[in-house]
Amino acid sequence: MGQVVLIIEDNERNLKLFRDVLQLSGFETLEARTAQEGLELASSARPDLVVMDIQLPDLDGATALTLLRKREETAHVPVVAVTAFAMKGDRERLLFLGFDDYIPKPIDVSSFADRLRRLLPDGGGVATT
Ligand code: MN
Repeated sequence: MGQVVLIIEDNERNLKLFRDVLQLSGFETLEARTAQEGLELASSARPDLVVMDIQLPDLDGATALTLLRKREETAHVPVVAVTAFAMKGDRERLLFLGFDDYIPKPIDVSSFADRLRRLLPDGGGVATT
């Protein structure tokens, strides 16, 4: 059984790209298009990892992360921030806020899944060569 990644992203094109890349890499995916929907899905489905766009229509990423961390059932899930408006200092700021990693868009398709796997307890259950 594959590891489950919850994608919280309101941009359809990015959502599809993340889904395709992750599924091709052996992950199962869940999708949410708002932070609220993502929080509910994270609580009910308990994904192994969350990829979150930090510009969502209802909440900013920092607030959504705080809410995820507050809930016992989602407090420890790794959360990776993605953003289209990469600016100098973003990485430091987002890691300081508590995100486990930060990936600027456009993502590097060839390394995206491996980057996420590194955050999973057993490396995503995939042997590396
Ligand atoms: Mn967005």
